Amino acid sequence: MNARKSALSNISNAVRNYVEKNAPYNVDTEFGCDTFGLKALEQRLSKPIYTKLLETIDEGAPLDQRVADDVAHGMKRWAMERGATHYTHWFFPLTGASAEKHDSFIEPDSHGGAISRFSGKNLIIGEPDASSFPSGGLRSTFEARGYTAWDPTSPAFIKRAGGVATLCIPTVFCSYTGEVLDKKTPLLRSIQVLGVQAKRLVKCFGIDKDHVIPRVTLGAEQEYFLVDKSLYIQRPDLMQTGRTLFGAPPEKHQQLEDHYFGSIKPRVLSFMDDVDRELWRMGIPAKTRHNEVAPAQFEIAPVFEELNLANDHNMLIMETLRVVADRHGLVCLMHEKPFDGVNGSGKHNNWSISVDNINLLNPGSNPHENAIFLTTLCAIIRAVDLHADLLRATTASAGNDHRLGANEAPPAIISIFLGEQLTDIIEQIEKGGAKSSKNGKILKIGVDALPSLPCDVTDRNRTSPFAFTGNKFEFRAVGSSQSCSSPNVILNTIVAESFDEIATALEKLPKEKFHDGLQEILKGIIKKHKRIVFNGDGYDGSWVKEAAARGLPNLKTTPEAIKPLMNPDNRKLFAKYGVFSEGEMESRYEVSLEEYEKKIHIEAELTLNMANTIIMPSCIEYFGKLSSALASAKSAGLPANPELKARALELSKKMEKLSKSCSALKSKLRGTPAQKLEAMSKVREVADELELIVDDSCWKLPKYSELLFVY
Ligand code: ADP
Ligand code: MG
Repeated sequence: MNARKSALSNISNAVRNYVEKNAPYNVDTEFGCDTFGLKALEQRLSKPIYTKLLETIDEGAPLDQRVADDVAHGMKRWAMERGATHYTHWFFPLTGASAEKHDSFIEPDSHGGAISRFSGKNLIIGEPDASSFPSGGLRSTFEARGYTAWDPTSPAFIKRAGGVATLCIPTVFCSYTGEVLDKKTPLLRSIQVLGVQAKRLVKCFGIDKDHVIPRVTLGAEQEYFLVDKSLYIQRPDLMQTGRTLFGAPPEKHQQLEDHYFGSIKPRVLSFMDDVDRELWRMGIPAKTRHNEVAPAQFEIAPVFEELNLANDHNMLIMETLRVVADRHGLVCLMHEKPFDGVNGSGKHNNWSISVDNINLLNPGSNPHENAIFLTTLCAIIRAVDLHADLLRATTASAGNDHRLGANEAPPAIISIFLGEQLTDIIEQIEKGGAKSSKNGKILKIGVDALPSLPCDVTDRNRTSPFAFTGNKFEFRAVGSSQSCSSPNVILNTIVAESFDEIATALEKLPKEKFHDGLQEILKGIIKKHKRIVFNGDGYDGSWVKEAAARGLPNLKTTPEAIKPLMNPDNRKLFAKYGVFSEGEMESRYEVSLEEYEKKIHIEAELTLNMANTIIMPSCIEYFGKLSSALASAKSAGLPANPELKARALELSKKMEKLSKSCSALKSKLRGTPAQKLEAMSKVREVADELELIVDDSCWKLPKYSELLFVY
């Protein structure tokens, strides 16, 4: 039996004894027990110190040494009580992953023993070597020093892996000279910028208390695949690139639509349950779990939270999925397109902003709230139309290129879905005085109430990349493996710019002209930017043509899609708001491009390697079988068997084609990514044909039908 066959038989013979979780789950003691959040802080700090810390967390007041020392002391004791011996500053370099470097609390004393120590300085600042992280040219290698600095707005937590508890302290990461080398800093900056402009905007509507607190929120739905680990380790492509570079689509995959929301298999449910419990320990409000569209595809969604925290939590969700999967003999694939021919995985980025507990994207129940809502809506329409290319740029990656526009995910064209009712309202505003709207009514902003917009009515269209869904926008182009940071940095900043623009105009209006003036401003925005609104089927081919006619960009591959990051106007915009310096924005471009090129190159080399060392040998083995059958038939004096001979000939022809396509790929290894991708697809095409004619017992690579259905 070959390794593939024995792995399959082991999986089917495995006896799984699931642990019954009969004990009631105690939310009070178990949820968040591994986060050093406000509750734990209050318990462990003196009242004045706690109050001072709250000023830092809520208002960004500078942290004094005394407070830091007390917090550090309390945090260390709390962590050690939970079994931690080490702490780490936990940060997000431009690799898109999270990074950590552990230090123990242990310090030798002068008597040959040791004490545990963790100071305010240890808490606030760290100095990891930055030289091996991508910087896109921002940091020269001779100046390797990098800094991590505590982000007090995201609570420290205990991460448990391999039975080891580690205290993790969320931090930002920058270079010695202050350039940003991470994904958290720009996110924090952009949240602040949007908050400032949102406060200005609502002030125009009379919301002007001393402490209006803006809150940008994110709920990130996370899709993923699960495959059995013993099959996974026989797929070098999954191991090294996260996606299958070979594999003929099985006859049955997702056509019958029998997986979506189907009953969850016991092995998967047991995994999901462990994931939820681990997330809850860390204070992550995991809420929804279900089967997704493709076989072996699933989704997890937490309840939305403040954006910075939600982003940290999404990073932890991805890590927890991977770690827990391993314990269950499974592997969690976060790649955007692990399997050709079935759905890929995305991350639905549900985004909203509220000020003083009023969700600006909630239509509300009176004309005043409606006016704020419609203004926000128009600001977003303007922002997305002006900067669709930047939003697209943040979702560009080698993985997501395979998913966007693949008849299952939103196309690479950015457009906004508003739904029929809201579109009608927008059209009424555009027409201003005309009586030609759907129900003959003219909406006077700030005077008339909106008809109530039931949430479910607005969420029928799943094909739009940027959809209004009741009280939030859902950005669906984000890839499953991507950090939510960059898309939200862009979204926050472009919406802040629109708020700024509108607030500047509103601030100039005399009080008695406010509503008429507002109506005119919104009318102007809609006239100019409504081309971005599209309520039709985003998967339909006709949309590509129509979008082109509307002048909307359709940037299909990463190298084109990230170019807007280099556009001088875009760079000036981000510099103006202090979110990215021009150099920082350029560095993001460099990092994205380099990562893209490296990934494609790895895929190209691996395609060659697998074709030569796994696929061709499978073919040779089968060819040997056929040839010896032919030879023995001949020596037994049997008449020539046309079937045998035809098979051997077909096989031999395809093997030759495989060799030729491999040579062609080899000659393109120094070529452009596009040339490599093209040559790789030729190798794959013939390899997948071979998979369908080679004796199943000779085939070494686990097949799609096995990866997707055997778990
Ligand atoms: P679906 O899109 O699958 O229908 P839901 O509408 O239930 O799912 O919500 C998806 C996500 O949106 C959840 O994480 C939810 O908490 C989040 N969400 C709901 N309201 C907001 C909001 N105001 N801001 C940000 N996210 C939100
Ligand atoms: Mg959704």
